[in-house]
Amino acid sequence: MKTINVTIWNEFRHEKRNPKVQEIYPEGIHACIKKFLDVNEDMKVRLAALDDPDQGLPDEVLDSTDVLIWWGHLAHREVSDELVEKIRQRVYLGKMSFIALHSAHHSKPFRAILGTNGNLSWGRDQKEIVWTLLPAHEIAAGIPDHFILPLEELYSEPFYIPQPDELIFCSWFEDGHVMRSGATFYRGAGKVFYFQPGHEECPSFHNPYVQRVITNAVRWAVPNEIGYTVKDECPHITWKTTDEFNQ
Ligand code: ZN
Repeated sequence: MKTINVTIWNEFRHEKRNPKVQEIYPEGIHACIKKFLDVNEDMKVRLAALDDPDQGLPDEVLDSTDVLIWWGHLAHREVSDELVEKIRQRVYLGKMSFIALHSAHHSKPFRAILGTNGNLSWGRDQKEIVWTLLPAHEIAAGIPDHFILPLEELYSEPFYIPQPDELIFCSWFEDGHVMRSGATFYRGAGKVFYFQPGHEECPSFHNPYVQRVITNAVRWAVPNEIGYTVKDECPHITWKTTDEFNQ
């Protein structure tokens, strides 16, 4: 059994300042995610936070990460551009995949990898119904046709992402808004998944369906075995005639 090396990066600021968030995620959002991923014998999960040395992601951690999960909100701007570029290149080269959760829609790496501003509309916390649009997809395995989150932050279209390669979930909110809440993107040789639930003041990471989606997404995101070397520059090709190819 191949081990999947997962690193969960969390800004880890709300949990230190806001008693309401502490109550829901006493050890941090990243630790909560680690807890439910840790039950999978094929996953080796590490935690990283913005205030750790090297913003939690020194080269040796990045180089040994198959799947990077990202949660950030208040401090997107503090993430160094150099680190963002390292993440983006690793995704493009198919060495590491990127899973963006909730407010990571505005994180520097998500925007850099996808190439749009990631803007969306938002509003008060309310009831959300997550609808499964693509039940055959690995990320939707074990998820019913819909599930309810009694309290989640309203995120709404228009969501400025590129047209997703696969749209797996769409959400309805009590105020009448809709949101493409689970989508995949293939970038270069790599994979990206965005999943919308996970506001810091809502208990969505304790929801068993949210946990299953994230667990499924980690398995889907394992970088594919690519049968050649993916380069970060275009190799020079000498022009050949059809006859030469056929030789
Ligand atoms: Zn939020």
